[in-house]
Amino acid sequence: MKTKHFTLINEEATIQVGTLLANLCSEQTTIYLHGDLGAGKTTFSRGFVRALGHQGNVKSPTYTLVEPYQLDKWQVYHFDLYRLADPEELEFMGIRDYFTSDAICLVEWPEKGEGLLPQPDLDIELRYQGEQREITLTANNEYGFSLLSQLELS
Ligand code: ADP
Ligand code: MG
Repeated sequence: MKTKHFTLINEEATIQVGTLLANLCSEQTTIYLHGDLGAGKTTFSRGFVRALGHQGNVKSPTYTLVEPYQLDKWQVYHFDLYRLADPEELEFMGIRDYFTSDAICLVEWPEKGEGLLPQPDLDIELRYQGEQREITLTANNEYGFSLLSQLELS
């Protein structure tokens, strides 16, 4: 299954997809999150990192660019590259060190880091649909396919 599409009727539904997907991850994972401001990228990420054991707040790391979460099983890095002025800044951050074997990387605004980020297993697009949202998940490799084929929303 290369693509899946769902309507998310409220914030809880967005959190639920994040939760379900987090629980399916079984190896190093890179997920790009596309969509306008307020589309739900951070809401998705909140469901994701909480599902893996984080109990506190989850905010977009707009000024720090990345927020690390050391969790029971995984190291999760949540990026928000909205304010990245130049992709070269990622080199100064030592961006390659984040995409290690036990890491899951969620990247908001990956377009800003084009050329310097590894290719994602999944591309996720969130869009406004009136008051609701729609989500399209696209797999880019075998592992991404397997994640999508296991993803079922109730
Ligand atoms: P982004 O990180 O994409 O800028 P946020 O997740 O920070 O967006 O904000 C999304 C906003 O939309 C939040 O106010 C959240 O409550 C709301 N929201 C998230 N998912 C949905 C949904 N499926 N339907 C309606 N509102 C949603
Ligand atoms: Mg955000």
